[in-house]
Amino acid sequence: TTFDEADLEPLLLENIKLSGYTVPTPVQKWSISFGTAGRDMMACAQTGSGKTGGFLFPILNELFRTGPAEAPVAEGRGMYRQRKAYPVALILSPTRELTSQIYEEARKFCYRSWVRPCVVYGGADIGSQLRQIERGCDLLVATPGRLVDLIERARISLRNIRYLVLDEADRMLDMGFEPQIRRIVEQEDMPGVQDRYTLMFSATFPRDIQMLASDFLKNYIFLSV
Ligand code: AMP
Repeated sequence: TTFDEADLEPLLLENIKLSGYTVPTPVQKWSISFGTAGRDMMACAQTGSGKTGGFLFPILNELFRTGPAEAPVAEGRGMYRQRKAYPVALILSPTRELTSQIYEEARKFCYRSWVRPCVVYGGADIGSQLRQIERGCDLLVATPGRLVDLIERARISLRNIRYLVLDEADRMLDMGFEPQIRRIVEQEDMPGVQDRYTLMFSATFPRDIQMLASDFLKNYIFLSV
């Protein structure tokens, strides 16, 4: 099977080809064919399996197909009006390196589309990250700690989120991010499990990951590649 045979939006297909990909990896093939309607997905996949495309392709395919949502009404008034970001897709990943890699992939696949990807991670100047998300942020790739910081500063709202990805969930738990992840996903603003499409990736599937999956995913498809 090639990407041509998958049911993809023309612009996404073009961007995938521009990246030099011709054949989807197994995780990509499955995630594209399941799509984002109905059931969530829990995938056991290692780095190198093409898991980044595995979550970006079905999400971008749907975003390109549906187009941008109506602009949200800004909160606050006059000079107190907050410039806030309202992403529709959120990808959580454990490290600066991984978030940067995911962001670079997302940029290639979003080329010439309406979707503007952004990246935020800890250990870097927050000022430039704030300026970046202020210019528009539809798809956000973030480390959990830095995202909590942005939420506390009221610079980001999760109310428009329709797609949520937890990448390398086992590593995020090993790094002690469970409180931050729960804080984000259980945010008041965040649409509930029935109102979003959630994908979780992990190399392993131990008890704590199973618990997370049963809390954050609905009726999920379990994929092991
Ligand atoms: P990942 O597992 O997402 O970190 O991807 C591992 C590497 O494989 C990255 O360098 C990707 O750019 C590359 N890759 C992912 N999917 C494909 C594909 N369908 N065809 C060729 N290369 C790919």
